[in-house]
Amino acid sequence: MEKPTDASTPLVRLSGVNKHFGSNHVLKDINLHVDRGEVIVLIGPSGSGKSTLCRTINRLETIDSGTITVDGKPLPAEGRELAKLRSDVGMVFQHFNLFAHLTVLQNITLGPIKVRRQSKAAAEKRGRELLERVGLADKADALPAQLSGGQQQRVAIARGLAMDPKLMMFDEPTSALDPEMINEVLDVMQDLAREGMTMVVVTHEMGFARRASNRVIFLADGAIVEEAPPAEFFDNPQTERAQDFLSKVL
Ligand code: ADP
Ligand code: MG
Repeated sequence: MEKPTDASTPLVRLSGVNKHFGSNHVLKDINLHVDRGEVIVLIGPSGSGKSTLCRTINRLETIDSGTITVDGKPLPAEGRELAKLRSDVGMVFQHFNLFAHLTVLQNITLGPIKVRRQSKAAAEKRGRELLERVGLADKADALPAQLSGGQQQRVAIARGLAMDPKLMMFDEPTSALDPEMINEVLDVMQDLAREGMTMVVVTHEMGFARRASNRVIFLADGAIVEEAPPAEFFDNPQTERAQDFLSKVL
């Protein structure tokens, strides 16, 4: 086992991070830390850089300047260390990206067996526990297409958890769901938050942000414009940008 870092080190730290796509300056001098056990909600208008910010943290996107550390260590550029980072930072997207030809349980055990080198039996045991936890114990042998969108998204969450991540990131996990399925996914996420998982969540679900987050970060045009505990942010937004945004979404 690697040496554990000091528990007081933030799990994630971005310092002076800048990112361009061509001439488009999409992340502007981002300074952000995520403490262990903390739930951060990222909100902001479409195109403000929320997804890009998430993607820099597991190095799905490179950055032009600044530094990012996870668990006190700079992000690795390649190889086994990068694979390790990607398994430490679970990511759940708007579209679930489950393998259509694999059963629910196989989707969940694939990573632990291939990347974490777990035995099939151990991975399946843990996989079934996780399915139980997301309320899908009876769906282990189903194919993704046999599940509703909300059920598929809960499988995607279980799949992320199967890697024992240090951090779970969610990028609009309920945006593609029919309204009646949104809460079953948010409930699973809220349970995770309550159990102490460190989470970064991009969402337009302001009720979830208020209930489950420790801090709301408001991004606009690639910059962090406001940052506050949810009650403070929602009840008393300080900037015109945030007031304007909230008047449209609340
Ligand atoms: P959000 O998630 O807040 O809607 P994004 O991070 O997706 O915002 O996008 C931020 C900006 O970066 C937008 O202007 C978007 O068009 C641009 N962008 C995102 N991904 C790419 C890409 N792969 N190539 C070029 N531009 C991109
Ligand atoms: Mg996005």
